[in-house]
Amino acid sequence: MKQRMCEMYNKLAKVRNLRAEQQDWLCFYCRFTMWERDVDAFSKRYGIGKRLANRFQCTAEHLTPVQNGGSNNLENIVAACKFCNQTRHKMRKGPRRRSTGSMSESG
Ligand SMILES: [Zn+2]
Repeated sequence: MKQRMCEMYNKLAKVRNLRAEQQDWLCFYCRFTMWERDVDAFSKRYGIGKRLANRFQCTAEHLTPVQNGGSNNLENIVAACKFCNQTRHKMRKGPRRRSTGSMSESG
């Protein structure tokens, strides 16, 4: 079971890296350069603290959220910095639709 999770994660990481390379390691939303492993080098390069640098870690962003049926395929993944990834989800917190009986709702 654990291995399965790992495989899934690796697949996502691979897709994310592909996307990141296509985007020249720029965030899909804010267009800031992202880092993948070396936060120290990144913070030194831009003269910012590690805490701030942490925001620009490259993450996989689902264009269509998994909960809405989005996949882990290349067409649904973009590379976004951690900050945008997180704030985007916060901003998307719209009014929740309450399911009132009918479960066969689509869209
Ligand atoms: Zn960003």
